[in-house]
Amino acid sequence: MKKNDLDLVLKEIKSELKIKGVDRRTALKIMALSSTTLLTNPTSANAATSAKANGKGVKIVIAGGGAAGCTIANFITKNIDDAQVAIIEPDSQSVSYQPGQTLIGAGIWNKDEIIGESKDFFPSNAKWIQDRVVEFNPDSNNVRTSKNGVIDYDFLILATGLSLNYEAIEGLSKNDIGKNGISSIYFADGAVKTWSLIQKLIEDAKSKKDIKALFTQPNTPIKCGGAPKKIMFLTHALLRDAKLRDGVKLDFYPAGGGFFGVKEYNEATIGFFKDRNLNAHFNNNLIAIDQGYRKATFKRKDGSIFDLNYDFIHITPPMKAPNEIKESPLSIKQGNLTSGGWADVNKDTLIHNKYNNVFAIGDIAGIPTSKTGAAIREQYKVCGNNLISAIEGKDLKATYDGYTACPLITDIGKVMMAEFNYKKEPSATLPMLNPAKERWLWWFVKVYMLKPMYFYGMLKARI
Ligand SMILES: Cc1cc2nc3c(=O)[nH]c(=O)nc-3n(C[C@H](O)[C@H](O)[C@H](O)COP(=O)(O)OP(=O)(O)OC[C@H]3O[C@@H](n4cnc5c(N)ncnc54)[C@H](O)[C@@H]3O)c2cc1C
Repeated sequence: MKKNDLDLVLKEIKSELKIKGVDRRTALKIMALSSTTLLTNPTSANAATSAKANGKGVKIVIAGGGAAGCTIANFITKNIDDAQVAIIEPDSQSVSYQPGQTLIGAGIWNKDEIIGESKDFFPSNAKWIQDRVVEFNPDSNNVRTSKNGVIDYDFLILATGLSLNYEAIEGLSKNDIGKNGISSIYFADGAVKTWSLIQKLIEDAKSKKDIKALFTQPNTPIKCGGAPKKIMFLTHALLRDAKLRDGVKLDFYPAGGGFFGVKEYNEATIGFFKDRNLNAHFNNNLIAIDQGYRKATFKRKDGSIFDLNYDFIHITPPMKAPNEIKESPLSIKQGNLTSGGWADVNKDTLIHNKYNNVFAIGDIAGIPTSKTGAAIREQYKVCGNNLISAIEGKDLKATYDGYTACPLITDIGKVMMAEFNYKKEPSATLPMLNPAKERWLWWFVKVYMLKPMYFYGMLKARI
């Protein structure tokens, strides 16, 4: 990272700390730590150079301008001269800070604290086409858009993120979130409604006993695998602080067989659940909701089915690729990721396995790591440097090691910073600190620092 860029990021973090009224001594300590964090980087991605390249007039189309699309657009316009870059993105607030939705759901942030206007973060020397790709035609090197017709490219970067599929649960649609005790933090308005329902849960617990709150996790890959647990830990903390925890049973029903694929983090989370009297019932997939009766139907691993009543439920929806990608030649056509429709790219170089002028980054990439913004912070350097090599006709040298991070909120004031890679081993940014411990320090980083780092560091391709 260049010194000027670091200074800019630290300036933004400093102003965030000032807004939140953090005392000077604490702020200085955190600033010192953050500069270390921003300067060191654990992954092989950083080994890739960012040489200024001649784009030879190539047309580069980026489909999707969210966290991944905006970041790679800034990398390309900074590092490649003489290229025509277009971002196709329909949403004018596509870069809003999704990780903040967990904090909105628990009443710690407001919705307006996460909003980002795309125009403020897209590079000025890229063309923003405010539209949606409705058809990918990689055999003809073009995409068809909804309003702007066919757009040709020499290189295409897929950054469309994923689709939330609430409708895959029988009896449920996205519009039902906020009604009949059904909450979900997976979209910003859902997070706002989740906070209303948690407040109602607290209110109800004042007069009722034996209240049942369920938390689910589906059998598809999801973005931020930690979020279903984070909102459960926060609900616990809010009830405990209101001295009402005893009257509410909190149960986690995930489709998978554990909390984390990484042994150290899994064992630590088992401990956090035990300490807080939270229950986990693995291998149970939510398949239907009866809203009138407040009844959830789950399918066990052996195919058998059972029902549970609830007063409050937090649903993490099934997720898949947007249909335009799923139904295109660009999606995975065999293996266990086929049904999701994810982009079929090489897990190390992020280039498409069939089309050598197509790359994918972010949630849409069909690679075996956890889908997070932190992963994009490493992926964009690999994708960007390999794009340069592809333009220059050279071998692709930059490789991604699967780095991803989940700041697992375990309490108000505590976070375990779970960082790991393809080998499913911890990949800590500060290895001197045991990564499997919950710490106030990481809470501080999560609540005060990661957002300015996202907006003014990552999105601008500075860190
Ligand atoms: C509740 C929650 C908590 C999270 N917590 C964390 C966390 O603590 N740490 C962390 O690192 N990450 C976290 N994440 C994950 C992180 O936010 C995502 O991984 C990241 O935003 C993915 O970026 P993306 O660009 O791939 O997708 P997105 O940011 O979703 O952007 C995709 C964009 O593509 C556009 N698009 C879709 N289809 C098309 C099309 N056909 N044509 C054109 N454009 C299209 C969409 O409009 C969208 O703007 C969290 C996410 C959620 C929801």
